[in-house]
Amino acid sequence: MKEIWPPWPRNAFLADFHIHSKYSRATSKDMEPLALNETAKLKGIQVVGTGDFTHPGYLKELEEKLEPAEEGLFVCKDDPEGTRFILTAEVSNIYTWRGKGRRIHTVLFAPNFEVVRDIQARLKAIGNISADGRPIFGFPAKELVRLVMEASPECFVVPAHVWTPWFSLFGARSGFDSVEECFEELSCHIHALETGLSSDPQMNWRLSSLDDYTLISNSDAHSPWKLGREVNVFTCDMNYHSIIEAMKVPKKGFQGTIEFFPEEGKYHFDGHRACNICFSPAETKRHKGICPVCKRPLTVGVCHRVDDLADRPEGFVPKGALPNIHLIPLEEMIAQAFGVKSITKRVHKEYLQLLDMAGTEFDVLIWEEEEELRRRLPEELSERIIAMRQERVEVSPGYDGVYGRITPIVSEEKAAKPESKTKEPDKKDKKTRPRQKSLF
Ligand SMILES: [Zn+2]
Ligand SMILES: [Zn+2]
Ligand SMILES: [Zn+2]
Repeated sequence: MKEIWPPWPRNAFLADFHIHSKYSRATSKDMEPLALNETAKLKGIQVVGTGDFTHPGYLKELEEKLEPAEEGLFVCKDDPEGTRFILTAEVSNIYTWRGKGRRIHTVLFAPNFEVVRDIQARLKAIGNISADGRPIFGFPAKELVRLVMEASPECFVVPAHVWTPWFSLFGARSGFDSVEECFEELSCHIHALETGLSSDPQMNWRLSSLDDYTLISNSDAHSPWKLGREVNVFTCDMNYHSIIEAMKVPKKGFQGTIEFFPEEGKYHFDGHRACNICFSPAETKRHKGICPVCKRPLTVGVCHRVDDLADRPEGFVPKGALPNIHLIPLEEMIAQAFGVKSITKRVHKEYLQLLDMAGTEFDVLIWEEEEELRRRLPEELSERIIAMRQERVEVSPGYDGVYGRITPIVSEEKAAKPESKTKEPDKKDKKTRPRQKSLF
């Protein structure tokens, strides 16, 4: 159980840097600045990455819809007090290095539109930047760092979701064993690593070689409602320079991360989705890495890969480690309270009604005090949120592309719907709770 909840001051701001626009494959058509602005406000996220700045069509849209705010940040022209945008993109490098195929994703940050146009021009000379919002190139990830830093030394490069098996720096099927092996003499430009949904800082703390890197977390959202699945917490000034500086230099205002429970990530454990096999690293080792159903090699997940590269035991906490907390998305907990397995239309409607009444999603999940939650929310939801905060959860880990499930443990009578105990809305509440059959 966390001793102080939350471990940050209320004036901290939240930032989600890695997302995708509608110009990326398999992405919602709603992923554009106006919808992102609105969703981030409902969630309680103050700074959002634009994503996909390498795409010429999207860049045109960004320049039309955004205007400058604080140094290096932007706002929607229609909502100058709204969500701040920071220019980001993700690039995929697929190449062969020392006889092995490598597939590395990296997140790029740029200080202004001029630099973005320069990066686009440089990338366009080498490959296709219009086919996908997350472009794919055949040159080494290291050369991407060189190209971006030549465009501007104010750029920032972060290896993305570093543990996922197929497309990442440390991926079992795609990567390297260290930052230096991948980026060589340009490693000095790498200051931060994105831990990804399937790993959390605790897992990364097991590698002493990662002690000098800032561990950041983002949603990698492909649709607006996935925004903020993981976010970064800052207390520095809200501008490009201060945010980047905070991720480079300890104690400059980067305060830690808000995480998924890593078991919920879809590559936490090992297994085969098609064969319905989900193994812990130990079970995989017992089966010599082979699927007992189809006899082919199992997809090795993040937990296993961390275990292979770790030089410290589980539970090790390095000096100066920053706080992080684990959350379950609010819609998932509403679905659980309803006893349904997925986010249905009804669940989404309840979610919006709840936000209308109780503030932002992060107000409810982290900032609001327990007493206030109990007063304002139906018991079957407030008890779930409190159990989540105390990490009293039941876990079924994700594997081979299947999301895991995290269920807060609430006592029987609190999980059930006590009709007679329905709380009346407080007079201070802005809105009365709807009378229709709903949670509230
Ligand atoms: Zn990626
Ligand atoms: Zn991505
Ligand atoms: Zn199999």
